[in-house]
Amino acid sequence: MDLTLDTPARYVPHVGPVMAERLQKLGVNTVRDLLWHIPFRYDDFSLVSPIGQVQPGETVTVAAHVVSIRTYFTKTGKRVQEAEIADDTGTISVIWFNQQYLLRIIREGMNLRFSGKIDRFGRKVVLFSPVWEEVASRPVGDTGSDGGSLHTGRLVPVYAETEGLTSKWFRGRVDFLLHRGGPDISDPLPAEIRDKERLPALKEALETVHFPNSPDAAERARHRLAFDELLVLQYHSFRDRYLWESTKKAFSVAIPASLLAAFLKDLPFTLTGDQTRALSEILSDLSRSVPMNRILVGDVGSGKTVLAAIAMYAAVKSGHRAVLMAPTQILAEQHFRTISMLLSPKNIRVVLVTSDTKKTDREEGTLFGPAEEETVYVGTHALLAKSFRVKNIGLTVIDEQHRFGVEQRSALLGSKTRGKTPHFLTMTATPIPRTVARTMFGNIDLSVLNSMPGGRKRIKTWVVPKEKRDAAYDWIRKEISASRGQAFIICPLIEESESLTSVRAVTTEFKRLEAIFRGLDVGLLHGRMKPAQKSKALDRFRAGMSQILVATPVVEVGIDIPNATIMMIEASDRFGLGQLHQLRGRVGRGDKASYCLLFTDTEDESALIRLKSLETVYSGPELAEIDLKLRGPGDLFGTRQHGLPPLSIARFDDTATIEAAGRLIRRLTANDPELSRFPLLRQSLEERTIGTITND
Ligand code: ADP
Ligand code: MG
Repeated sequence: MDLTLDTPARYVPHVGPVMAERLQKLGVNTVRDLLWHIPFRYDDFSLVSPIGQVQPGETVTVAAHVVSIRTYFTKTGKRVQEAEIADDTGTISVIWFNQQYLLRIIREGMNLRFSGKIDRFGRKVVLFSPVWEEVASRPVGDTGSDGGSLHTGRLVPVYAETEGLTSKWFRGRVDFLLHRGGPDISDPLPAEIRDKERLPALKEALETVHFPNSPDAAERARHRLAFDELLVLQYHSFRDRYLWESTKKAFSVAIPASLLAAFLKDLPFTLTGDQTRALSEILSDLSRSVPMNRILVGDVGSGKTVLAAIAMYAAVKSGHRAVLMAPTQILAEQHFRTISMLLSPKNIRVVLVTSDTKKTDREEGTLFGPAEEETVYVGTHALLAKSFRVKNIGLTVIDEQHRFGVEQRSALLGSKTRGKTPHFLTMTATPIPRTVARTMFGNIDLSVLNSMPGGRKRIKTWVVPKEKRDAAYDWIRKEISASRGQAFIICPLIEESESLTSVRAVTTEFKRLEAIFRGLDVGLLHGRMKPAQKSKALDRFRAGMSQILVATPVVEVGIDIPNATIMMIEASDRFGLGQLHQLRGRVGRGDKASYCLLFTDTEDESALIRLKSLETVYSGPELAEIDLKLRGPGDLFGTRQHGLPPLSIARFDDTATIEAAGRLIRRLTANDPELSRFPLLRQSLEERTIGTITND
C-alpha cells in the first residue's frame, strides 16, 4: 500500500501489530509520528580507524572480517560472546555480554562494520559491545544520507526506546520511510518563507535530523522542526485572539472618575505602582466593546483581590452584575469577606453562592433581588448550577482558573446577555517564567504584579535532608512556643487525585505528627473532608486553637493567616519550584519572622540543587524559569497549570525561535488573517491542533 503521513504505523513494512503496540507506548501512532520521533542524541561513530591503530578509550568504527566467534562463561559466571576480527593492519577481539543470538547471525568470513568503545578486558585490548552492520558495497566512512550506513561509521541517532524497540530498529524503519518506501512529504512552508527564515526544506530537515553529517547540520534540522511546532502554537494563539476580537461583543464598562477616586481614598492603603498600572490596563480593557481577556499574575499577597473588587465595582456602576468564582469553598468565603468589606459600604449587595446555598433560594430568586439592585456574586462552581443563572453579567472574574475544568470555564463564558459576552479577568499566583510570558501568551493580555505591598518579606528557607529531620521537628516545636507562631505541614498529595488511599496516607501521617508534637494541638485539612469540616479545621487554626495544621496542598491557594510563621513541606522534591514558592507564600503574612522548611529524602544531586535554589531566590517568575531550565516544560508546574501544550521538539526557553515564529505569523496574517495566500500552510496549521493556551 502507498503510505501517507497519516497511515497507521502498523502498515509500515516490518512494523506490524506487535511493534505498533509498543510504538504506541511512545506516543507513535502514525507514519508521521514515526518520522517525527527524532533522536534525543547521537553517538559519534564517525572516527574510522585501522585496527592496528586503535587506542583504549577511543570510540571508533572498524571495518573487518570475522575470523571466529564463540561463547563462554567467565570465572564470575557471566556469559560472554567473543569474536576475533581482522583487517589488513591487525586483529582485535570483540566482546558482548549475554547476546547469545549473535552466534546465529554473525558467521566466520563475514565482512562487517563495528562501532563502539575500545577498552581493556582482563589483559587484552578489546572492542566492547559494539553495534555492527553489514554494509556490503559501500566504502567505509560514506555517510551519505541515502541510507548507506545506519549504525556505524557516522553520527548515529539514539532514540527514546521502550521494551522491545531499540534504536537500531528505529533507524531501520526511519531509513526505510525516508529513502525507500516512504510517503510524499510536501513542505507546507513555501520556499520564499524558508529562504527568509533560513530554514531547510522539510524533507531535508527530517533526513538530516535522523542521519546528520555533523552536529551543526543536526542542530539546523532540529531548529526547522522546532520552528514548525512553534508556528502551530503561534498560529492558534493568533486565531483565538482574532476570533475573539472579531466575533465577540461586550458591554462597555466604565467607572466615573469621582467614584474611583473616592474608592481609592477609602482604602486603608495606597495601591503600589504595579497595582496602579494593572488597574489602568484593566479599566481600559473594560471600556472597550470587545470583551477583556486578561490574566492578572501576582504572587500570593501581591494584592490582586482589591483590583478585582474595583473592576466589579465598575461593572455594577455601569448597570451590570459581576461574578467572582473561586476553586474552593474556603477561598470563596475568604473572597466574600474581602469583597464585602470593600463593596458593602458602597451599598452594593454581595452574595455568597456555594454548594451550601439553599436550592430554594436559588430557584425562588431570593439571591437575585430586584434588577436595579447593584449586586455582585462570589462563590464556587455552584455559581454554574442550572438553577442559578445570573442575568446581565458584565464581568466574570475567575481565581486560579486552571483548577476549573474546561466545561466549567466555557459555561461561565457562554453566559451571554443580549448577545454580549462578559469581560473576563483571570487571577493567578502561579508564576509564569518571564520567557514564556513574553512570548507565548499571544491571545491573552497579561498584567503582572511584581512588587509586594510593603515590600517582600524574606522567608528564611532551608532544605532539610533525612538525617536532620528529627532536629527540624525539635526546632519547629521550640519556635512555635518561643514566638507563639503556627505551622503548616504539607503532605505531597495532589488535590485533583486525592484518592481514598492517599487520604489514608495523610491520616496516618497525621497520627505520626500528633505523636511527635504531643502537647501541641494539631489539626488536619484535606480535600476529601466535608466543607463544614474543612471550615472548622481552618477556623480553629485561624483562631490559634491549633498550632499546627497538617494539610494536603489544598492550602496552596489564597489562605490568609497572618500568625502562621512556619511552612514545612514533606517530600518537597515532588513539587515544582513554582508550587513550592506558592506554598511558602502562605507564611510571612504578618509581622513575625517566618520560615520555610523543605523536607526531602532524595539523594539525587540535581534534585537537591533545584530545591536549594529556594534558599536564595525569592521571585516566583525567576523560580519558574529555573524549573524550566532544569526540568524542562514537561514537568513545569507553571506551564502545565497555565495550559501550555506539551512541546515535543521545541522548548519553551528557546525564546529566539518562539519570537521568530511569532513574527512570521504576524507578518503573514497582517493583511490576510485567513492565510488565503498560503492554503497549504493554513491547512497544515489547522490540522495540527496541539492544544493552545486559551481562556475560551
Ligand atoms: P493576593 O490575592 O494577590 O494573594 P490579596 O489581594 O489577598 O493578595 O492581598 C493581600 C493583603 O494585602 C490583603 O490583606 C490586602 O488588603 C493587602 N493589600 C493589598 N494591596 C495593598 C497595598 N497596596 N498596600 C498594603 N496592603 C495591601
Ligand atoms: Mg488571593
